[in-house]
Amino acid sequence: MSTLTNMLNRGHEQVVYINDPGVGLKAIIAIHDTTLGPSLGGCRMWNYGNEEEALIDVLRLSKGMTYKAAIAGLKLGGGKSVIFGDSKKHKTSELFQSFGRFVDSLGGKYITAEDVGTTEQDMAVVKKETKYVTGLSKKIGGGGDPSPITAYGTYIGMQASAHYKFNVSSLKDMKIIVQGVGSVGESLISHLCEDGANVYINDIDPEKLSRVSRKYDVKIVSLEDVYDLDVDIYAPCALGATVNDLTINRLRCSIIAGAANNILLDPVKHGLELMNRNILFAPDYVINAGGLINVANEIEGYDEVKVKTDTEKIYDTLLNIYVMSENEKIPTVEASDKLAQQIIDKKKLELHKI
Ligand code: NAD
Repeated sequence: MSTLTNMLNRGHEQVVYINDPGVGLKAIIAIHDTTLGPSLGGCRMWNYGNEEEALIDVLRLSKGMTYKAAIAGLKLGGGKSVIFGDSKKHKTSELFQSFGRFVDSLGGKYITAEDVGTTEQDMAVVKKETKYVTGLSKKIGGGGDPSPITAYGTYIGMQASAHYKFNVSSLKDMKIIVQGVGSVGESLISHLCEDGANVYINDIDPEKLSRVSRKYDVKIVSLEDVYDLDVDIYAPCALGATVNDLTINRLRCSIIAGAANNILLDPVKHGLELMNRNILFAPDYVINAGGLINVANEIEGYDEVKVKTDTEKIYDTLLNIYVMSENEKIPTVEASDKLAQQIIDKKKLELHKI
């Protein structure tokens, strides 16, 4: 399928192919929708097998960013970029400076940030060439590591989900399994323990598991048992697609609310199955938006208090999604896409009125 057909199918505004052989830079920037504002999204560095694979990835991810920014209440559109290459072998300052110049040439229509395969340090190099970059360290005016605020947003989202499902005002005594005790998972655990939740943890890294279990009042669960555990909330904070054909029938939780991206392997199929099984699913791109809110805030000068307040809005956003899902008898993932699209369509209408 041609690039243009791919763009038409997904509603993309612009796709930019980048080639700078002098520094070995091959990249694609995809701008999905700028109705709400300039497109923002991370720069992924990945050893793609071929061009088609990279194109589909950047198109899919940038569209996701449009919905994520809209539902988070940000005045931003969706964009993403991918650099072809092995992030462990092919990184050079020249490569990121060149990338920065290409980003700059778009005049602010696309704002970049760190993503899989790129770091705060790489973004500092990009910043030498353009102001349209976020995901910077606090030392140079950025928001620093987004994980704590992502975890805070996830915690707020869990509270909203528990309130909706069980009509409770706190997570005290709730039985919660956190899968993955990395940057976000550990920070989430600290909030949950403070609230008096009954926390279970799991990770493929035994060292992390033992460190976290020494630090907090938590119980370790084996990798095999994580899906079968009789818990109130399952919080995936490791990797995506953990809710799939193999796991969905094993789940005994009432709520799924975690920070991992793309938790449902097949959002349409598994979203519906969760609804039919009466398991409340907090759409991941809604509940994990704290990180995006953090980087977006850098654009106008980083303000930690505002980041926290904006992140707390995840509570009401999720409640709106749950109400729509219940009233219209549609899965929560469908309700959140619908609400995001309504926000974009409303703005489009306003713009056409002017
Ligand atoms: P991380 O790499 O710090 O932590 C991930 C943890 O998961 C690691 O401890 C790893 O050992 C563990 N893990 C990997 N595979 C596992 C498995 N099969 N079972 C159990 N544990 C496993 O990553 P992070 O920054 O904490 O992010 C966690 C998730 O949240 C990721 O899916 C990420 O895409 C998503 N996310 C993160 C942010 C952020 O601000 N960091 C923002 C939005 C979404």
